[in-house]
Amino acid sequence: MPFDLVLTGGHIIDPTQGLDGPADVAFRDGRVAAIGPGLHTGGAGDVRSAKGCYVTAGLIDLHTHVYHHGTAISVDAERVARASGSTTCVDTGSAGAGNMAGFRHHVIERSAVRIFAYVNLAYPGIFQGSGVMRLPEAENLDYLSIPHCVAAVRAHREHVVGIKIRVGLSTTGRLGAMPLHLAIRAGEIAEVPVMVHVGAAPPPRIEEIVDPLRPGDIVTHCYTPKLNSPLTAGGKVRDTYLAARERGVVFDVGHGAGSFGFDTARQMVDQGFWPDVISSDVHVDCIDGPAHDVLVTMSKFLCLGMPLPEVIRATTATPARVMSHPELGTLAPGSAGDATLLVIDKGDFRYVDSIGAVMSGDQRLRQRGIVLRGSWWDDGRPSDTA
Ligand SMILES: [Zn+2]
Repeated sequence: MPFDLVLTGGHIIDPTQGLDGPADVAFRDGRVAAIGPGLHTGGAGDVRSAKGCYVTAGLIDLHTHVYHHGTAISVDAERVARASGSTTCVDTGSAGAGNMAGFRHHVIERSAVRIFAYVNLAYPGIFQGSGVMRLPEAENLDYLSIPHCVAAVRAHREHVVGIKIRVGLSTTGRLGAMPLHLAIRAGEIAEVPVMVHVGAAPPPRIEEIVDPLRPGDIVTHCYTPKLNSPLTAGGKVRDTYLAARERGVVFDVGHGAGSFGFDTARQMVDQGFWPDVISSDVHVDCIDGPAHDVLVTMSKFLCLGMPLPEVIRATTATPARVMSHPELGTLAPGSAGDATLLVIDKGDFRYVDSIGAVMSGDQRLRQRGIVLRGSWWDDGRPSDTA
């Protein structure tokens, strides 16, 4: 039976299959049908040259805010995908139990791009706006209902991958670490992982945020340059991080507007503490910089010395595992028919972190095309076709 689409002559990077070299990849009925050299293109509905491009499983951005028009913080998932080549956006807590149905019906089910969600333990989700509108969603115990959160996870289970809680002075106020413990309890009942945002300032202290996490739970903003630093005063990666990694806690970049510092990251990667997942935390206050999207965040890690296959693993295979969606993040035959075409530009590029520090780098990733559910996604075509 002919293929629906064949990408020919690309350089495949797929850590799940140990692939890092030239091959074709073919799609049929919305899935990957075959991968290998010299695939038969006869009768195929669409044949596209991927020559000069890296071809990866569709990129997954594990930390985004895409409840567009439903929450003030969110941006349009399709705009994010066009810019970055990501085929899956995972929204992290924009919606809580009170508006998860709205997110599902008005955004998730209408989106060409795949969207999954961490349900916020806070019933209203994140209702802060941009800039000066800081409205803490988790400092009022009345908002933090375990039964409502668990019910929302169960009602929307096919779209939900976990529970989100933002912990720190500006979101949990005087409640300290208690909201995190409530989120973990909800996660135990609903049998899903918890993603915790490390707030800029205590309370609670970073140990109180990381120590309670279970294997499979996720720390986002893991290279925060703020007061609640992952580094000791002497510049060492804190024991709480090392112990958490040892027991299987996942560390996610979550760049965002205020949560990623080159200096912190550099000190940590010098000690071997690379991220498990690279994500953007794209939202209204960082989509035009400093975060932009996951591709820019990936470029920053490439320039910090992370090998390309590991950068790809951190945006495909690992987030898919964290989400318990093994059909994503891989180009193995039978898996979801999503792929991203990338090139690396060489030159002199200027990167900015969340506190305004500048790093110059000699590489930049750019997307050159997107395959969604086995078809070339024209909306994702690169603006410049040179
Ligand atoms: Zn976020």
